[in-house]
Amino acid sequence: TSFAHFGFDEQLMHQIRKSEYTKPTPIQCQGVPIALNGRDMIGIAKTGSGKTAAFIWPMLVHIMDQKELQPGDGPIGVIVCPTRELCQQIHAECKRFGKAYNLRSVAVYGGGSMWEQAKALQEGAEIVVCTPGRLIDHVKKKATSLQRVTYLVFDEADRMFDMGFALLFSATFRKKIERLARDILADPVRVVQ
Ligand code: AMP
Repeated sequence: TSFAHFGFDEQLMHQIRKSEYTKPTPIQCQGVPIALNGRDMIGIAKTGSGKTAAFIWPMLVHIMDQKELQPGDGPIGVIVCPTRELCQQIHAECKRFGKAYNLRSVAVYGGGSMWEQAKALQEGAEIVVCTPGRLIDHVKKKATSLQRVTYLVFDEADRMFDMGFALLFSATFRKKIERLARDILADPVRVVQ
């Protein structure tokens, strides 16, 4: 597979070329077409495999298929991850590739300023990269809304559960997450690399 197989437009290809990636990695070759087709996916791949770009590129295409976002509408793409460091890394990649379409990404994680994050959310962002507890805090305070989210990624989901993040969810939130997972993980494709 070459990048040409993905059918990305010139703006996104331009950002990919700037990264000096010559060809897609195996997880990208397998995962990108599945996500572009709108299928749910469980991806199993190591750090260093290029998995971050594998979920970011189709997310950008998906967002561009949606109608114009107004400030206050809330994000379309949400990436939930276990740590602040990972959050910042993924956010940096979202910004780098999101430049293709002037998409805005906001990183919200525990330990960062609640006020600054809320302000950034309220200014409007198509993409939110977050740790779970902090996202819940912002939603409770109505700094953002998840009503428009149609592209959801749990990165390093196994690690999040190892770290006991599941315990941070209140009973009602967990019920909502479970319902959401049942509703949206429809016949997921499992990709192992
Ligand atoms: P990840 O597995 O997402 O943590 O990515 C590991 C590293 O691989 C990151 O520094 C990416 O910038 C880089 N990378 C992602 N996709 C490619 C690619 N197609 N070719 C070369 N490097 C890549």
